[in-house]
Amino acid sequence: MVTRKAAGKARRALASGSRAPTLHRARPANSIVAANSPAIARGAPAAAATDAETIATRITDAIVEHRLLPGTRLGEESLGEIFGVSRTKVREALFIVARYKLITWEPSKSACVAQPSVQEARDVFETRRVLEAATARRLAGHAGPAQLRLLHQQIEREAKLVRSGDVKSGTAYGARVFGDFHRLIADLAGNAVLAAFVREISARTSLVEVYYGTTMPSACSHDEHVEVLAAIERGDAEAAALLMIGHFVHIEKSVMLRDSAPGVVDLREALRA
Ligand SMILES: [Zn+2]
Repeated sequence: MVTRKAAGKARRALASGSRAPTLHRARPANSIVAANSPAIARGAPAAAATDAETIATRITDAIVEHRLLPGTRLGEESLGEIFGVSRTKVREALFIVARYKLITWEPSKSACVAQPSVQEARDVFETRRVLEAATARRLAGHAGPAQLRLLHQQIEREAKLVRSGDVKSGTAYGARVFGDFHRLIADLAGNAVLAAFVREISARTSLVEVYYGTTMPSACSHDEHVEVLAAIERGDAEAAALLMIGHFVHIEKSVMLRDSAPGVVDLREALRA
């Protein structure tokens, strides 16, 4: 039985706005400006989703921001009704999301939000450490005033959230704000291929965190972000890389990797509310 609250959460998850950290196409480096806008912070109003890429992005965002939980069934008919598109279009969108292992989709079965194994979770964290160390090292080697200004704006955004006390782990807004720090560094580092891989692996990390749960009070340590930025600012590439690795070691340690039975939201039932 799904509560009215959970049903509303699932509906909002799928019908949320078109803010688009797409996995397959890197967001522009200045996108942090858009992410700072009040409309984005509140959650933009639902817009028509007519193409597969937009639908895939909305599903991805809902998973990454912990609004769609692991194990949730993604019925093609329901998704078609929600987005007002054909099942063919829905299947195109699911195909995009499945490429990044955020959903499982076996022949003749409904797609489901993925439930990564412990081994997969460890592999995801190891890969993320390698990629994020590379972006931090790269950016520290050439960060200019404009890039540093964007990073400081991001840090201030985080600080504001921390001061507000609304940084609970697993909240959509918290996950988005702290995740933006890593997406911004990847974008500013100047290697589009690396940035695309960071986007993919950060989405999978987020899925691992929500599936297993974490003991951290927030998605990331704001203080550690401050230290990484300080190393980038003084051009200390090795320190930036090591601090970033340490950041993810701490995050991985906080994730309670074990057999898990998370709550599952049935899509159709949820949408009746
Ligand atoms: Zn972080």
